[in-house]
Amino acid sequence: MDPRDGPNRQRPAPGAAAQALLALVPPLRFAVKGGFAGLSRLAGFGETIRGAVARARVLGAADSPALRALGEEGAAFDALPAAERRRAAGRLAVHLSALVPVPAEIAAVARAATAELLGGRPARPGGKGAPAPSTPTSTSTPSARGDAPSPPAAPPGAPPPSAGPRPAVALRAPRAAERGGLRPLQPSAGPPPDGSAPPTEPEAPPTTQRPIPPEPRTAAERAARRAALAAPLASIPRAHPSPRALLEERGRATVEQALELWPRAWQDRTTLRRIRELVFGEEAIVLATVKSVRSKRMRNGRPLIEAAVADESGGLQLVFFNAPPWKEKQLRPGEAVLCSGKVSEGFGGRRQMTNPEVEKHQPGDSANFGRIVPIYPGPADWQHPALRKLMKRLCDELAPLSVDDLPEPVRRRRRLLGRAEALREAHFPSPGTDLPAAEARATPAFRRLVFEELFFLQLALARRRQGVKVEAGIAFDASPEAVERALARLPFAPTGSQRKVLGEIARDMGRPEPMNRLLQGDVGSGKTAVAFAAMLLAVQSGWQAALMAPTEILAEQHLRTLSRWLDGTGVEVAYVGNAARAKGQQEARQAVRSGKARLVVGTHALLEQDVGFERLGLVVVDEQHRFGVLQRATLIGKGRRPDVLVMTATPIPRTLALAFYGDLDQSKITELPPGRTPVETRLFGDSQRKKAYQLARADLEAGQQVYVVYPLVAESEKTDLADATTGAAELATVFAPHRVGLLHGQMKPEEKQAVMDAFRRGEIHVLVATTVIEVGVDVPNASVMIVEHAERFGLSQLHQLRGRVGRGAARSRCLLLAHFRKAGEDARERLTAMVETQDGFELARVDLHLRGPGELLGTRQSGAALLEVADLYRDEAILEEAREEAFALVEADPGLARPEHAAAAEALRGRWASRLSLAQVG
Ligand code: ADP
Ligand code: MG
Repeated sequence: MDPRDGPNRQRPAPGAAAQALLALVPPLRFAVKGGFAGLSRLAGFGETIRGAVARARVLGAADSPALRALGEEGAAFDALPAAERRRAAGRLAVHLSALVPVPAEIAAVARAATAELLGGRPARPGGKGAPAPSTPTSTSTPSARGDAPSPPAAPPGAPPPSAGPRPAVALRAPRAAERGGLRPLQPSAGPPPDGSAPPTEPEAPPTTQRPIPPEPRTAAERAARRAALAAPLASIPRAHPSPRALLEERGRATVEQALELWPRAWQDRTTLRRIRELVFGEEAIVLATVKSVRSKRMRNGRPLIEAAVADESGGLQLVFFNAPPWKEKQLRPGEAVLCSGKVSEGFGGRRQMTNPEVEKHQPGDSANFGRIVPIYPGPADWQHPALRKLMKRLCDELAPLSVDDLPEPVRRRRRLLGRAEALREAHFPSPGTDLPAAEARATPAFRRLVFEELFFLQLALARRRQGVKVEAGIAFDASPEAVERALARLPFAPTGSQRKVLGEIARDMGRPEPMNRLLQGDVGSGKTAVAFAAMLLAVQSGWQAALMAPTEILAEQHLRTLSRWLDGTGVEVAYVGNAARAKGQQEARQAVRSGKARLVVGTHALLEQDVGFERLGLVVVDEQHRFGVLQRATLIGKGRRPDVLVMTATPIPRTLALAFYGDLDQSKITELPPGRTPVETRLFGDSQRKKAYQLARADLEAGQQVYVVYPLVAESEKTDLADATTGAAELATVFAPHRVGLLHGQMKPEEKQAVMDAFRRGEIHVLVATTVIEVGVDVPNASVMIVEHAERFGLSQLHQLRGRVGRGAARSRCLLLAHFRKAGEDARERLTAMVETQDGFELARVDLHLRGPGELLGTRQSGAALLEVADLYRDEAILEEAREEAFALVEADPGLARPEHAAAAEALRGRWASRLSLAQVG
């Protein structure tokens, strides 16, 4: 480690590992006693050091610069000439005191050595003169060091500063700005407000690429390596505070988190162009010297900066509009700068770049020059040089220590790069890398990173599914006759698609393993009928079946439907709602408990503790995405191990279904019942609402009914209510004499029910509602759906709303009223897609593309946090591969107990656990 970081910066190694290092204290103490008198009498001390370091690592010492440096000193020590040993002992004292508590003598030696290295003064422990500095050599890179044999046993390529003898001159004193960490943290959003110049880049030490070591074999080795990657950025010696702050502000406080900040683009700086060769219209990078800078004001008062730069071939004009004041200071005459931008033809045919990115160039800066360099999302161009230097160091020194959690055979079969290499290539691609491909995340490096992310997601799902499969479930009578008997209760012939999915469900139900199936079907595709038939199969076999719906309105609608279909069978249905509010709940719950009720319909209330079943055999969860996995588990826990059928009307693209519901078997209803009319969808600006109302009015005159839906904005239910209430009042006038009713979330259940019933009976003609009607309401006579503030709804929500109409024979309309001025960029694209297609799956694909998976699944966080490199829209093929491998792995080794799966098991429990818990929306 760098002595300037002070002896106590590294955290001590834990327990046993610390003991291993403490064994070095007595011999070192002996060596430094009496002005290093004991030094010459110590034999094989280097070997002892190396042994202690190796033991400490095995015992779980976190990898740290100090530990590495100690190992390297040890490797070199025995071969050192006597004159060098004293200084080496000083450095040993520095490193050791950073790792474990040391006695006063050693601490004093460490302090003296630190002072010497810092100030170039001779150390005088115990008043004796220290030897003069050894041969000064140019020490710009460790490989240029000629004075120390490359230590064979130490980790190769470790940070150079304290590795081996090193003249004091190589360690510069901190510059004024850096001393004591006084350099002000630069806000990442912009340059310092006082107009001062942007920070000059730190003189970061040149780094060497550590060769990628072989994968660790033992758990202790892995733990040591993981600890190195989990180390806070703050623990990295000489890390410049500005880029560190940039990373930390973005929530990337550790080495690994920083390494997972993926560049948004790259710039090829392997070959620079000469200015004279630049062609107008092309993007180019040149290295030039600043000749002159001029700042003036444009006519509108805005600042304009012009700079003339030149290389040996010619001159180039830089023009900055609206440049901040520090820009001028950044461009000091005589300084070398990298300018990148589009070359245009300026005044008098001169070559010009307008608002180019400009970076100060330092000779020998290998992180920013002579290679392909990353551009990160967020930081400004002037912040990039220092950020790249830090990233380069992380890639060179620490990325190689990462553990590859993917099992080796998987990597081989799927031709994946190792993690360390992938990280390095993702940030600093090798020359010749296809950069557009990298931006599309299609290079081998990103393929590997995407695969890894999807693999662990699938591994978690595979394990969950495995857990279900081994439980003992119920084998119902699901013979073709039983299925026909159930279907005979329906007042219509099932569609082919309904039959097919019921066949799949019946097959599962007939087997003793528990069913765990997802039933997808567009709005109005008739999922309720399928669920009903499945429930009858359970009932006919002597079990109870429960159907859980997300809202009371929906649950009561199901109750009505099921009761009607059961009419005359003698099978009793119970409704379980909120105990305090709904009437007859005591009796209902008693009927469920005693088994008098064979079918049970309800809301969340079904999850309440006092709801017990006599013999629960099948659980159906409607509109699954509204419930969490825990709720599903609670309901399942009320039977011995009931079969589970999960239904969703949110069309889920295949990738998303695999990614998030991958532990469920899937069935899909692909056709709508006969007699449906396509819904004509039209988009209106706020000013065109009269037209929309006219269309609605025409249908009202024809005896049809109309829905008007207002969005719900989570923050203020009051405002929403005000919107809907005012809207309802206005519409009562607009549509008079047709009757307008209002339905909103703050009404009592009885009130809601009364309004809903009146609408169903046709006594209310226009139903104004907040989104409570979003799911499942079924009123065939309604033919118009007006959506207010359509720009605020997601595509899948809009599609659901549209599904409320078009259920009868009449031509139906969905009229979207949008306020585009306040809307985001996506809004128009979304609403246009709505107008153009009726296909729920196509809409879901568009939604996935526009908004990410979180919105689609109704769990906002998951979209942002769950997948960082993978994109379900783009990476479908990789998802399939990752899924195959993950499921095969769990099949072969359900407990992930084999040694070759140990790293994957650790990663699943550690790195991925918190991210994957978000995936459990199913
Ligand atoms: P969803 O899948 O959206 O839950 P529902 O189960 O509410 O759809 O069905 C929508 C409407 O279609 C209901 O009125 C239902 O009675 C009717 N329906 C379902 N299946 C058929 C069918 N095979 N033939 C005719 N009508 C059907
Ligand atoms: Mg439904």
